[in-house]
Amino acid sequence: LMGQMMSMPLLISSLIQHAARHSGDTEIVSKRVEGDLHRYNWRECERRSRKLAQALVRLGLKAGDRVGTLAWNGYRHLEIYYGSSGSALVCHTINPRLFPEQIAWIANDAQDLALCFDLNFLPLVEKLAPQLPHVRHFVLMTDRAHMPAQTTLPGLLCYEELVEAEDGRYTWPVFDENAASSICYTSGTTGHPKGAVYSHRSSVLHAFASALPDGMDCSSKDVILPVVPMFHVNAWGLPYSSAIVGAKLVFPGPHLDGKSLYELFEAEQVTFSAGVPTVWLGLLNYVGANQLKFSSFTRTVIGGSACPPAMLRTLMDDYGVEVIHAWGMTELSPLGTLSKLTARQLKLPQEEQRRILEKQGKVIYGIDMAVIDDAGDAQPWDGTSSGNLVVRGHWVINSYFGQTQSALVPVKEQGSDAGLWFPTGDVATIDADGFMQITDRSKDVIKSGGEWISSIDLENIAMAHPAVGEAAAIACRHPKWDERPLLVVVRKPGASLSREEMLAFYEGRIAKWQIPDDVVFVDEIPHTATGKIQKLKLRQQFAEHRLP
Ligand code: ADP
Repeated sequence: LMGQMMSMPLLISSLIQHAARHSGDTEIVSKRVEGDLHRYNWRECERRSRKLAQALVRLGLKAGDRVGTLAWNGYRHLEIYYGSSGSALVCHTINPRLFPEQIAWIANDAQDLALCFDLNFLPLVEKLAPQLPHVRHFVLMTDRAHMPAQTTLPGLLCYEELVEAEDGRYTWPVFDENAASSICYTSGTTGHPKGAVYSHRSSVLHAFASALPDGMDCSSKDVILPVVPMFHVNAWGLPYSSAIVGAKLVFPGPHLDGKSLYELFEAEQVTFSAGVPTVWLGLLNYVGANQLKFSSFTRTVIGGSACPPAMLRTLMDDYGVEVIHAWGMTELSPLGTLSKLTARQLKLPQEEQRRILEKQGKVIYGIDMAVIDDAGDAQPWDGTSSGNLVVRGHWVINSYFGQTQSALVPVKEQGSDAGLWFPTGDVATIDADGFMQITDRSKDVIKSGGEWISSIDLENIAMAHPAVGEAAAIACRHPKWDERPLLVVVRKPGASLSREEMLAFYEGRIAKWQIPDDVVFVDEIPHTATGKIQKLKLRQQFAEHRLP
C-alpha cells in the first residue's frame, strides 16, 4: 500500500515564499559595503529575488548553470541565493579571502557563467577576469551611482539595474528536488579544493532539522546575525532556516571587528548569532576592554573549529550568552552535531554540565554517526574509545563535483552487510548519551610513541591561561618518540608569559607525557580563509624546530 498524501518537491523557493507570505513585514537589515545601513523585509526580498531570477534567465542562463558570488553577508547576496537556486540555477559562493589563483581555479572548476561581486572586490575581479574564460557576465552588486566610470571588465552589469528592469511577473518553477541548488568548495588544505554540490532536497531538510529546538532553536522571535560568512558553507544554513521560521535577519557586511559587531548587535537587538571561535575572540576583547554588556544577545552557535572551554565559560558566565558548540563540515552543508543538554543532564551540577557542553554534541535528526577503527569496525559509545568519525544522512555528500567515484567508505555494521558512510577525516569519541567529541583532525593529531595526543586538548588548556591570546599545538619530529607536541602561543597584548610558566600551567591538567615539549611565542598565528588555524603552515614553519 502506498501513502496517499500530496507529493511536493522540497524546493528552496518554497522557503522564501513561505517567509514572504507569513513573515512579510519582518525585517532584513544589512550593513552595506557602500557604508550605510539598508533595511527592507522578507516580502520585498522575495519580490526582488523573483526579479533577479527573471534577469538571470534573460541573460541566457539555463537550469544547472552556475552563478558565482564574491560577496559579504548582505541582502543582495541573499537575493542571489534565492534568485539563482529558485530559478533552477546553481548558486556558487566563493570565499574572497582565498588567494586570487585559488579563486580563479575554483570559478573555473565550477564553470561559473556569471560572477556577482561586491563593490570592494572590483579590483580583484578586474585582475582575475583574464583567467576566467567561462564567465560571460560580470555583475557588480551595487547601484548606478556606485558604478565605476571606467573598468577593464567587458560589459560590466549593474545589479540594481538588472533587478529594476524586470517586472517581477515570474512564477518560481517547479522541478526535481534532487536538482543541484548550490556548490561550496572545501578549503583544500591538502591538494585542490573540491566542490560539494547540494540539492534542493538536502538544503531544505537541513534547514528544517537545524532550526529545531535541540538544534539552533530558531524562531520568529529571533533576530539572527550570521557572523559566519555566506561564502562559508551557506552561513551554516541560516539564510534558509531563518526563512522557515520567519526570523529577522541582520547582515554585518564586511564589518566584522569587535566594535562594529557589538554596535550592530545592540542597535538591532540581535538575539542569536553564529561564527567560528576567532570572531568571538575579537568581540570578547572589545566588550571586555570597554566593560560592555549585551542587552539582547542570548545565544550563539560556535563551530568550524573547537570552541575553547575558556571562551564558552566567558560567554556563559560573564555575559549570559548560551554557547551551542557545533560540529560540521562543507560535505554536510554543514551541520552534523550540536551540544544541547538533555532533561537529565540539566539536573547535573553546573560544572558537569559545562564539561558536556564543551563536546561537539549530538547529531540532529537526519544524520547518523559512528567512530570506527582502521579496520572499519565500529567502536563503542563509551566516551573514551576514539576512532575515525564517519557519517551518513540526508545532507551528506555522496561524491564530489566532477567526480564519478563515490566519496564513501564501507563500514561494518552489526548484523548487516557493510553500509556506505562518509569518512570525515576527524578523530572522535562518542559517549553513552550520544555526545560526540572531536579530539583531532586525523592529519593534526600528534603521534607520540604510538600514542595519540589531542592537539585540541593542548590548545584548550593553553587558552585557559589569562595571558594567552591564541594557541596552536602541532606535532614536531622527535628522534625517539617520532612526534612530540610543540605549543605555539600568541600572548595577549601587554601580557607577559614565559615558556616555563606556560609549561607549568599544564601540570595537573593533563597526563605528564602529553605536556608539550616546548613553547614558542609568535606575534601571529596563520589562519585559513575561514578563520581556522593553519596547522599545515605552522608545521612547515617549525619543521626545523629543535625540541630541548
Ligand atoms: P575546511 O576547514 O576544510 O574549509 P570545513 O569548514 O568543512 O572545511 O571544516 C570541517 C572541519 O572543521 C571538520 O572536519 C573538523 O575538523 C573541523 N571542525 C568543525 N567544527 C568543529 C568543532 N566544533 N570542533 C572541532 N573541529 C571542528
